[in-house]
Amino acid sequence: MNKGKLIVISAPSGCGKSTIIKQIIDDERLKLGFSISATSRKPREGEEHGVHYYFISDEEFLQLIKEDKFVEWEEVYAGTHYGTLVSEVDRVTGEGRNLILDIDVKGGVNVKERFGEEALSLFIMPPSVDELGKRLRGRATDSEETILKRLAKAEYEIGFAPQYDTVIINDDLDTAVEEVRSAILSFVTR
Ligand code: ADP
Ligand code: 5GP
Repeated sequence: MNKGKLIVISAPSGCGKSTIIKQIIDDERLKLGFSISATSRKPREGEEHGVHYYFISDEEFLQLIKEDKFVEWEEVYAGTHYGTLVSEVDRVTGEGRNLILDIDVKGGVNVKERFGEEALSLFIMPPSVDELGKRLRGRATDSEETILKRLAKAEYEIGFAPQYDTVIINDDLDTAVEEVRSAILSFVTR
């Protein structure tokens, strides 16, 4: 069986990354498996341990860093760690599936550097920062303070886009989904 490849998807919060991933994850032509990250943040309503994330304490997270259990990890927000476990990469690619990683811009650039041709990195770009603000407010999952922090960070994150293999603008959702699908399909079948 062929070993699976890695597909990194990064975007500023609110750009539509989760919405896009949801629409392609079950496309059997892509043979995707989702990389469940470890994080020290608290679960949001509806999030489950072992499904959306492995929710662990900061102490446990630091212990796993010491034990070299991460492919990459970042303190994405002050005091909150997120990381891709070596065991997730092995679990999914070992089954011959392609691992899809929803990770931040620094993690995305690191994975691409480490895995080279075995990884495809996609950056989802909002049509504008104004539109991004509208979507974050429309999603209504975060406080205004958090939204302002995420918007301020978006400008910084967009600066990483040139380091990605492909940049896809999520203006019309269906178009963006098809662009992501076709980029992944040509990567995994080449
Ligand atoms: P992310 O996972 O990148 O943080 P989400 O997938 O949660 O973002 O999307 C943020 C919000 O924007 C959601 O309410 C989603 O329904 C909406 N959204 C996503 N893509 C579009 C689009 N192309 N046009 C309008 N709204 C969108
Ligand atoms: P959220 O808290 O909204 O689920 O995620 C916040 C940010 O952390 C997003 O940009 C998401 O892509 C990123 N993230 C989630 N898991 C990982 C991971 O394992 N590694 C890195 N570097 N970033 C991650």
